[in-house]
Amino acid sequence: METKKKDIRAFTKEQLRDFFVSHGDKAFRGNQVYEWLWHKSAHSFEGMTNLSKETRQMLESNFTINHIKVDQMQRSSDGTIKNAVLLHDDLVVESVLIPTKSRTTACVSSQVGCSLDCRFCATARLKRMRNLNPDEIYDQVVAIDNESRLYFDRPLTNIVFMGMGEPLMNYNNVLQAIDKITSPEGLGMSPKRITLSTSGVPKMIKKMADDGVKFKLAVSLHSAIDSVRTTIMPFNATFNLSDLREALKYWYNKTKSRITYEYVVWEGINDKLRDVEALVDFCRFAPSKVNLIEYNPIDEGDFRQASNKAIDLYVDTLERHGIVVTVRRSRGKDIDAACGQLANKS
Ligand code: SAH
Repeated sequence: METKKKDIRAFTKEQLRDFFVSHGDKAFRGNQVYEWLWHKSAHSFEGMTNLSKETRQMLESNFTINHIKVDQMQRSSDGTIKNAVLLHDDLVVESVLIPTKSRTTACVSSQVGCSLDCRFCATARLKRMRNLNPDEIYDQVVAIDNESRLYFDRPLTNIVFMGMGEPLMNYNNVLQAIDKITSPEGLGMSPKRITLSTSGVPKMIKKMADDGVKFKLAVSLHSAIDSVRTTIMPFNATFNLSDLREALKYWYNKTKSRITYEYVVWEGINDKLRDVEALVDFCRFAPSKVNLIEYNPIDEGDFRQASNKAIDLYVDTLERHGIVVTVRRSRGKDIDAACGQLANKS
């Protein structure tokens, strides 16, 4: 029986150097291969043209490169592009390119499906679940960077971890991917242009602060009242608001980095003055920004976007308390590429 070849991108540069030394070659060969794998995003050993034929064949018989494949690309009338990404084990995740006048943002997935159970999110309904590997996250970014250059004539400028999955439930792999994305040996992007969005896992938010990460943090809050939040995001029964707030305080004290809250206002759920006041109170401990996101319906009826009047109530009240607030329009709705719509429909 043929033994299963290992995915070469699970190896560090050091390990690749050691591999070559143990095969009677120079450690430097490891650096060359590492550069091909990450900086040059090589899809095959054959294409590593500065290696001898024997070396390439030796690699071929020991390793595989489990590259992702953009299986299907859809373009929205507003320019947004959605990729259906095929993984080596035939599972699929989605990632999105969002162009504006001045930026191109990649919205990437961190898991296949999601382990959380937000009632308003299509991804939560996908049963099958596994964590994405660092290279599978990195590859999504490279694919979108290429599309940005091809269709918009400019490189990718920003990355948000707002695709499928909860990044803090796949913390190590997400961090390794971000290391590669920000390293000059990878894409060399500034961590300030990367935002990790989380439903709020208190323990992991503290860990991130301890790890001294340099990217930005966004929290999907949607309600600052426990009973309401637990109804729409049931895991809030375990990770409740007071633990979340304490973790965010810890984050702010360590990083001094402003916290962004993502927030959808729904009719009859969180559209009253008491909801806004709870939000103002929740935000008080640190400089905050609230992004009011438009609801993208995922089925018939259960949730409905609140009226403009309710949105105005939020904007006016938050501004009066010195909290930065933006109202974000959805992008890519016609191809199910907007927030919470990623569910491998096609
Ligand atoms: N698990 C992470 C990242 C993925 S969700 C998180 O929860 O932050 C990305 C954002 O889309 C979150 O703010 C989420 O609350 C929001 N979202 C989910 N479903 C949505 C929907 N149907 N309409 C609008 N936003 C939605």
